[in-house]
Amino acid sequence: MDSNNEPLRQAIELLLDLPNVQVQAVHQDRNGSYIVTLVSTEHGATCHKCNKRIDKSNGHGEWVTLRHTAIFEKPVYLRIRLPRYQCDCDGEPTTTQQVSWFTRRSPFTIAYEAYLLLDCVNSTTADVAIKKKVTCDESQGVLDRHIRKSVDWSTMEPFEVIGIDEISLKKGHKDFVAIVTARQGNETRILGVLEDRMKETVIKFFRSIPKVLDLVGYKLYA
Ligand SMILES: [Zn+2]
Repeated sequence: MDSNNEPLRQAIELLLDLPNVQVQAVHQDRNGSYIVTLVSTEHGATCHKCNKRIDKSNGHGEWVTLRHTAIFEKPVYLRIRLPRYQCDCDGEPTTTQQVSWFTRRSPFTIAYEAYLLLDCVNSTTADVAIKKKVTCDESQGVLDRHIRKSVDWSTMEPFEVIGIDEISLKKGHKDFVAIVTARQGNETRILGVLEDRMKETVIKFFRSIPKVLDLVGYKLYA
């Protein structure tokens, strides 16, 4: 991409739909995938040792490449190296900035993880891995991370419809996890991934939903 091509840069930023990033370069590789180099426009980090907010620059973390949701059906890979900051607490440790749109150790952005998970509904993680050209370990890793994650209800808008679907871990196996989704208008959001679909597990999850989100009363479809 021509670095002076401001309209194109803005268009790609809009399509990526990620907070606090700026597109630095875009190119297409031999397979037609978009490789997008980003910089973070956020400033500062939270010290991993003392939890203090810090903003004394100290270089960058490692380059990471993350798969993101497709643009016009072309795979998108993001390259970023996040800024690092130094604290004045004991040992003057450095901390690489954490951002809201990907979790460390995942090869995917959070948006791409949600997309993969929704694609697993009524399918198997192995089928999705083949379809999306990711490894079985990677698609299984997405499930594992979501099963461990607790729901941050404070960021949730009230929803009207909740769905429970199942994802089978392997073809022909009896291992299922349950995925709970909420529909708000045209949008489907993942509320949680439950380790099994036993009645007690599902009831426990539903009891954890704060009453404030339940004002409109939701319909259950399953
Ligand atoms: Zn510190």
